[in-house]
Formats: sequence, structure tokens, C-alpha cells
Amino acid sequence: MAILGGRPAFSKPVVITKPTMPPVSGIQKEYGRILKSGMITNAQFVREFEQKVAKFLSVKDVVAVSSCTSGLMLTMKIFGLKGEVIVPSFTFHATAHAAVWNGLKPVFVDCDPNTYNIDIKAVEKAITPRTSAILAVHIFGNPCRVQDLQRIARKHHLKLIFDAAHGFGAQYKGRNLGGFGDAEVFSLSPTKLLTAGEGGMVATNDRELAKQLRIGRNYGDSGSYDSQFSGFNARMSEFHAILGIESLKSLEKNVNKRNRLAQLYKKQLSGVPGITFQHIDANDRSSFKDFSIVIDGKAYGLNRDRLAEILLKENIVVKKYFYPPVHMQKAFAKFGGNAINRKLVHTNAIAENILSLPLYSHMTGDYVRTICSTIKNVYNSRTALKQYYSKKGR
Ligand SMILES: *Cc1c(COP(=O)(O)O)cnc(C)c1O
Repeated sequence: MAILGGRPAFSKPVVITKPTMPPVSGIQKEYGRILKSGMITNAQFVREFEQKVAKFLSVKDVVAVSSCTSGLMLTMKIFGLKGEVIVPSFTFHATAHAAVWNGLKPVFVDCDPNTYNIDIKAVEKAITPRTSAILAVHIFGNPCRVQDLQRIARKHHLKLIFDAAHGFGAQYKGRNLGGFGDAEVFSLSPTKLLTAGEGGMVATNDRELAKQLRIGRNYGDSGSYDSQFSGFNARMSEFHAILGIESLKSLEKNVNKRNRLAQLYKKQLSGVPGITFQHIDANDRSSFKDFSIVIDGKAYGLNRDRLAEILLKENIVVKKYFYPPVHMQKAFAKFGGNAINRKLVHTNAIAENILSLPLYSHMTGDYVRTICSTIKNVYNSRTALKQYYSKKGR
């Protein structure tokens, strides 16, 4: 093991993820065209991108925005949400930031210990007369329990919004994510499956929401200069749209590739004591935005933090997504005081033991095999590694 003075498993760092970019030939002509015309933002290619994504997702409308965060902010603003919004704490912090920017109080609820997605019973328990929406997240591209959430939202007259930042290409019961709830908001930032450099997409079957989003992303100005509400600049540029259109062509292939790599990870790591995986329902397809393992330190012999340190020394770049959980972060300290927040047992346990391993769409199976054999070597060398840590007084 490299941490004990041996040679690392990889001579150069294997990154946690990287975007799979289209060839220059696919975008050169279009870039030339917009540079010549001077139509460089929110024009023909943005509209083409929106239409192609709407078709891919089988939804009535898709509105391109500058990011997933801005799409969530505008959607909540347009719905006129007030009071409390129910959100998972086991997510990327941007989910909750978008609610706070709208003056909403995020009420953090626990996740399911197997799927890592928002827990249905916890959602029901968190509903109060002040609740106006549920903001759920398809964690790592694993579809939430969509139908249960829709039933709860209908019953209590709540808006249901999905942060689908990880969900491009994922399927719930055979249907692409995008058409569920009142809106699903995707991210096109560089670490996501479909990337446009930066950007976001709001998918919805609510035509009125789509219309208002087009106004909202343009400062709330529909073109008359008499602004209708306080929007902001959340437009997408033509450069981003061209990149997005080209990337969309290989999305299906990339999702399949990631599913194969994830299967390989699972096969290679099955049987290693103390390692478990996110549960994906047999009727669903994850996009595998990330591939994560949860480590039971007692059974594995070393805890998550030690494994992470050891793997980094092997030039395997791993990340603790999502740690700390959102309700424990400084920005949300003032929302952490209620009884529900203190009991996020599964969220805390997963956040403390989860580790995301390298995965990107053009990664080869050989990388996965070497990463897995390294994780097995760590297990087999656990006695020596434990001695190393006890000598260091840790
Ligand atoms: C990346 C991410 C976001 C933010 O996406 P941007 O496009 O960067 O705004 C929001 N939510 C989740 C769950 C994410 O992973």
C-alpha cells in the first residue's frame, strides 16, 4: 500500500469524474455561425436544445436556464411558495439554497437508508399547515418514489418539485425522469451526465409555468420593458446550447456505459465485508451520476475516512458526497433547531460512511477493476494499516 511506502496503484491521479465532451467537428460550424451572426444568447440554438430535450424527456415544455439552481429559484418564485418546504438533508447544498433564496424555511427530513432518497414516511410526518412544497432529489440519479410523493402532494395540496440535477437519462418505471411532479429541474454543469459547460433545464407539463419561466429568466421582463415580477438573468447562451445539443446525442450511450461500469464495480466489490451499495429498484434505471459505496468500519476493518486517505495515496480520487449533510452546514445552522432535524439518523449515518468512487462515461473497465482490487487489498492489509494508524496515535 502506498501509504505504507509501496508503489501507488495508479501512477497518475484517477479523477472522481470528468465531462465526456463531443468532438470539435460536431460544434465548429455552429460556433462559426453564431459568431458571424452575433446572436449569441437565448436564440435559435437554445430553442432547438429545448425542443430536443422536451422530446427526449417526453414532456410538454422545457425551459433552458443558466443553472439548476436558478431554475429551482425561479420555479419556486413563480409558484409563489410561502412558509416551509420539505427537503432532504442528504443532497447537494444547492437544493436547499434555492429554497432559502425564496425566503422559504427548509425543513430537512431523513433519507431512506437503502436508496438514500427522501424517506416517504418522514415527508408525511414533516407536513404542517405552513408547508407549501416538497422539493425531492433523485440522489446520484436514482429515481425517488415518485408515485408516493405525487400522492402525498395531491392529498395535502402541495407543489412537488424535483431537483433532478443528477437525473438526466434516469428512468422511473421505464419512463425518463422529467415529467413527474409540477416540475423537474436538471443541471448541465460539468460534473453532470449531460453537460453544456454550465446550464439548467426546467422540464414541466405545466404550460403556464413554462411561460412564466421564460419571462423570469429575462429579469421578469416579457419584452415590453414593463417587468412583471422580480426575475433575474438566468438565460442560457447559444454557446452552451450548441454544446448541449451535441452532448445530447451521446447521452443514452453514456447512461448505458455508466450502468455497465456500476455493475462491474458491484460485481468486483461484492463479498468484500462491510461494503454496501445504493439500492436501485428493479423497475428503474439510475443515471449513475455518481457511484458510491457505504463502508461499515467494523466489518471492513477501517472506517470511511481512513479508506479515503489510503485510496488518495493510491492516486484514486474519492469524494465524500454528501458530507457534511446539509442540515449540519454553517449556512443552515439557523434552520437546524427543530426536533425533526435532530433526528436525521439515516442521513447522518450515510453521510459519515459514504464514499464516491471515480466514474465518468468514457472511463474504461480496467480502471474499475484496479480500483476494486485496491479496495480489496486495503481490506486484506487491514491489520498492517491499523498498526500504522495506531503508531501515528490516531
Ligand atoms: C449540481 C447540483 C445542483 C446545482 O446545479 P447547478 O447547475 O450547478 O446550479 C443542484 N442540486 C444537486 C443535487 C446537484 O448535484
